[in-house]
Amino acid sequence: AAAVTNIDLTTLITAVADTMAAHADELTALDQAIGDGDHGLNMKRGFEAVRAETATLAEKPLPEALKAIGTKLVMTVGGASGPLFGTLFMALGKELPAEPGRADFSAALAKAIDAVAARGKSQAGQKTMLDVLYPVQTAVAAGKTTPEVADIADQAAEATKPLKAIRGRASVLGDRSIGHMDPGARSSALITRAIAGTLEP
Ligand code: ADP
Ligand code: MG
Ligand code: MG
Repeated sequence: AAAVTNIDLTTLITAVADTMAAHADELTALDQAIGDGDHGLNMKRGFEAVRAETATLAEKPLPEALKAIGTKLVMTVGGASGPLFGTLFMALGKELPAEPGRADFSAALAKAIDAVAARGKSQAGQKTMLDVLYPVQTAVAAGKTTPEVADIADQAAEATKPLKAIRGRASVLGDRSIGHMDPGARSSALITRAIAGTLEP
């Protein structure tokens, strides 16, 4: 089925902002272990800023709304993750047609994740958000249901624990980053589950 038609942007923004608020302390704790302890606050602030614009965003065509969300995230999340999540949404908006089907979404997501990797000078296996985003794209491309995609995202975040950080603030810890889940991987999984929950299976 075309799982990404009839996207309700208001429901989607609310779901993502709610999960960032509900898990802010958890994300902060993860970032305290291998970073500077601001990831929960960064993400909550960013998506509350997006939430505040919901009415305006919901009136825009989907690609324009996604670009505006990305711009807002760049301006408000800050840190390393702000420009990276901002790039993800901006690039998705750039690549998606107005009424995307699953194949359009899969292709646009692949390009948007590549844009994040280019922006971060990073790749899979370096203990970052990319270690969730790539498996999510692969799952979407393989036609997995949205609940399956959400589970795959959680597993992928979990799988960052044994990795050694090669990019971002955690990389200064070297081997001491091993054994902790990457905060950006966790937030990516939370965003994935929230969005998946608003789409048709
Ligand atoms: P900061 O590290 O500047 O305080 P955040 O705490 O908000 O920023 O975000 C940290 C997260 O950003 C990391 O857990 C990681 O997932 C992601 N990240 C950092 N640098 C990169 C990079 N170069 N490429 C991909 N993701 C990155
Ligand atoms: Mg941080
Ligand atoms: Mg910081």
